[in-house]
Amino acid sequence: MSNCAIVGINWGDEGKGRMVDLLTENYDVVVRFQGGGNAGHTVINEYGKFALHLLPSGIFRPGVVNILGNGVALDPENLWLEMQTVMEQGVALTPDNLMISDRASLLLPWHRMLDELEEQRLADKKFGSTKQGIAPFYSDKYQKKTVLAGELFYPDHLRSHLADIMEWKNLTLEKVYGAKPFTMEMVEKWLETYCEKIKPFIRDTGAFLADAQKAGKNILFEAQLGSLRDLDYGIHPYTTSSNTTAAYAPIGSGLPSAKIDDVVGVVKAYSTCVGEGPFVCEMFGKEAEALRQAGAEYGAKTGRPRRVGPIDLVATRYGVEVQAATEIALTKLDVLSDMPRIPLCTAYQLHGEKTDRFPFPAALADARPVIDYVDGWCCDISGARTWEELPAAAQEYVLFIEKAIGCPITYVSVGPERDSIILRKQEHK
Ligand code: GDP
Repeated sequence: MSNCAIVGINWGDEGKGRMVDLLTENYDVVVRFQGGGNAGHTVINEYGKFALHLLPSGIFRPGVVNILGNGVALDPENLWLEMQTVMEQGVALTPDNLMISDRASLLLPWHRMLDELEEQRLADKKFGSTKQGIAPFYSDKYQKKTVLAGELFYPDHLRSHLADIMEWKNLTLEKVYGAKPFTMEMVEKWLETYCEKIKPFIRDTGAFLADAQKAGKNILFEAQLGSLRDLDYGIHPYTTSSNTTAAYAPIGSGLPSAKIDDVVGVVKAYSTCVGEGPFVCEMFGKEAEALRQAGAEYGAKTGRPRRVGPIDLVATRYGVEVQAATEIALTKLDVLSDMPRIPLCTAYQLHGEKTDRFPFPAALADARPVIDYVDGWCCDISGARTWEELPAAAQEYVLFIEKAIGCPITYVSVGPERDSIILRKQEHK
């Protein structure tokens, strides 16, 4: 038996979905343990191209059980729409290959609206929320003002619980934001249109996972976003509202006794960041636009152009520490193929000193990147499938990063397709 977590090392969008899709071959169960529909994992395989938001990326592998754990922001509307899209493209979803934790809190109809209203109120101080209701959802979860998915099996209790929460929430909507209140008719419609559809997939997934563990099954824990967006360890307050770190996987998945043997940290060969907040290595102008286009860096959920920059080795080293990563998958190396000289952010200049430690969030605005360059390779590497097939300059770039972050790079991805991957496990034996 072995347990593995796949996590993002940076700001998210590192290509985790593509790595989970690849690695699920060796796993029996894939569990999403945090986050919601506010980010997207892009997966390309024999069924087509998918932007998954809530569904675990193991959904395409026959025989793999996919679980949405209790730590997830379970949005019945988004989930049902996503399930329909996936099913329309020929992927079977049944209660045997998709299970929803009865302990997952439901993202309620007002959460998205509250997200939108608060971003409007903040105006130019907004956080750049994807407006999927994630921050209001997690705030309410910790105030115990959500309902659990399993409550759908207790209709009388559910309605009275929802009526109480709605009454409380309407006070905020009306008195704070001057918005229209919700009614029980609206809630009933939501229950019928979305919750009833996902109900057959809800069960005690904690018991299922405990049995799977006893039976020696291999479990893969799939994270959303990355270290720098972690609620506790990220760039507060420009983080997400959940813990994106591997340490949270046992709690958020429903298997608190799980020991994670391997933590595969996913790092992109350059940096991208969506939304507001400090991004020390950001590039602008023509150079940035060329990189954005080469890497198709537009948000999977929102279509927003991502901010781009060279790989940030200061932030990446910190991300590796926070995740306790045991190995690294370096993605999108092929995107850098046209650059004659490749920049890397090797340190920060902060308050008159050069540092390689990632600073306290409030100090990030004053940090300036120290940029070094290495030679590019200027040829197409997307067909490479072995380390030896990579040009020497590309190998050197990978080795430079590996040394700087202090963690073995065991996978190098050179394209979005499942097989566009170079395995380097043997180099580290
Ligand atoms: P995730 O949220 O971490 O899964 O990342 P996203 O799905 O938002 O972004 C990764 C994007 O890069 C997707 O469109 C992938 O298909 C694509 N991708 C992943 N790995 C590679 C790679 O090695 N090369 C190229 N060119 N694209 C990749």
